[in-house]
Amino acid sequence: MPMNNAVLIVGAGPVGLTMAAELARYRVPVRIIDRAAARTDKSKALVLWSRSLELMDRLGCTDTFVAAGLKVSGASVLAEGRRIGHVGFAAEGTPYPYALMIPQSDTERLLEDHLASRGIRVERQVELTAFTPGADGVDATLRHADGREEAVRTPWLLGCDGAHSIVRHGLGMTFQGDTLPSQWVLADVHIANVPTPPDELSIFWHADGVLVLFPISPGRFRMIADIGETADTDARHDPTLEEVQVLLDRRAGAGMQASDPIWLSGFRINERKVRDYSAGRVFLAGDAAHIHSPAGGQGMNTGMQDAFNLAWKLALVAHGHAAAESLLPSYGIERSAIGDIVLANAGRMTAAATLRGEFKQGVRNLVASVVLQLPMVQRAMGQTLTELNIAYPDSPLTIRGGRHSGGPAAGDRMPPTVGEPPVGAGDAPRFALYAEGSPDLTALLVRYGTLIEPAPRPPVTAGAMWLVRPDGYVALVARAGDHSAIATYLDAIAVAAA
Ligand SMILES: Cc1cc2nc3c(=O)[nH]c(=O)nc-3n(C[C@H](O)[C@H](O)[C@H](O)COP(=O)(O)OP(=O)(O)OC[C@H]3O[C@@H](n4cnc5c(N)ncnc54)[C@H](O)[C@@H]3O)c2cc1C
Repeated sequence: MPMNNAVLIVGAGPVGLTMAAELARYRVPVRIIDRAAARTDKSKALVLWSRSLELMDRLGCTDTFVAAGLKVSGASVLAEGRRIGHVGFAAEGTPYPYALMIPQSDTERLLEDHLASRGIRVERQVELTAFTPGADGVDATLRHADGREEAVRTPWLLGCDGAHSIVRHGLGMTFQGDTLPSQWVLADVHIANVPTPPDELSIFWHADGVLVLFPISPGRFRMIADIGETADTDARHDPTLEEVQVLLDRRAGAGMQASDPIWLSGFRINERKVRDYSAGRVFLAGDAAHIHSPAGGQGMNTGMQDAFNLAWKLALVAHGHAAAESLLPSYGIERSAIGDIVLANAGRMTAAATLRGEFKQGVRNLVASVVLQLPMVQRAMGQTLTELNIAYPDSPLTIRGGRHSGGPAAGDRMPPTVGEPPVGAGDAPRFALYAEGSPDLTALLVRYGTLIEPAPRPPVTAGAMWLVRPDGYVALVARAGDHSAIATYLDAIAVAAA
């Protein structure tokens, strides 16, 4: 379908900005609006995980982020004055074997700069107030700072408008879940004499509750701590610097000195998610679709990866190279399954950290001190936190069954190869084929040139081929030379688009 209107992205948080950057890179006209006068100046989400950095590499801006952030190598759990567990972030097979600490304010600034370099400006103080979805497009009403109302028609409306999403409300979708009873405080603060390694997260399990220290930059830390339960889910307590110092002294050990607070705030944890991520031509991504505990620091990363997942599908459909019905429904199926996993994991980590009672805490600490020493558990936790194990085995876009020893299975991430451009880089979303070259194969690649890279990449091992999606996940594994498997797959993507 040729486009005559820009895709409308509502919300210029990290998810909306990522969505705009990806679509713009793929030459899809976009308009990105935000009702706020300025982007956030708060550190909020602090971590960019390995998988997000890999996907950002396709935008060509990962180096800028890495230069602006702080590399963190692992997390330690400390209880009763000793380290009872450690998880490393130095996963194998990624160019980014660390967690990158970078305040959300900087993430948004760098993404906005990147968009500006492509000639796209965030339209600030422009609010989506209403919309009507239709079969061929969505009619939206925007209110400008001077009160002027503007009517626009967009082929797709993308709700990246955060936890209180008007897009979600407009679709009548339920944000299923709860507000947890625990109250939390957060301090973005300078701390002197921190005894733990400067490139590690430290999680202190104390009888009073949990306290976590995240390094942000030399001398600057994020501290979060739970301060007990209340039935009033609206209750918030903004801590004073003195209260932060008391929490540090009591739960993390004496000798540290907090000063120069940048941000002190109370917060509550919501665990909520929509069932469907889209309805017709309207899509939800990021906090608009899922919110959960900050344990594991997955929130923003999960949202940005929603954007990476949707953008290439939308671009192929927008350019008329793929049928909407063959690609777009997979977005919600794939990302909702990931959202369920992220919510469950974050919930488990929060429950373990906020456990109360001497006996239960004693058992928890004992079990953790054994289990967290196991290399298998350490590896699994590292893979989960870095999001390198995200996979889409049950997606309608995954053809299972062709597993070949020595390479990733269908649905898994294809690890990037150092020195090769990432799959999906450039200005057109194309699949990549990891296969031995041959004249027949060249003819196939030419025939499907709007969907697939013009030349094969070296196979992972001999005897098989890997078809990899523009977001780096394996669509199918086939026997070497089985070109019909590739053609059948790409025909199904393109069906009805011609
Ligand atoms: C105190 C705090 C601490 C946090 N700590 C962490 C952490 O450590 N790790 C982590 O991963 N996450 C953390 N988060 C969560 C993280 O900030 C979010 O997951 C992330 O911001 C989600 O990005 P988003 O783009 O989906 O939504 P948002 O960042 O909320 O952006 C939504 C944007 O939409 C705009 N908007 C809303 N409605 C409209 C409308 N009708 N019209 C136009 N614009 C609109 C808003 O102005 C906003 O700019 C924290 C959040 C808070 C509040």
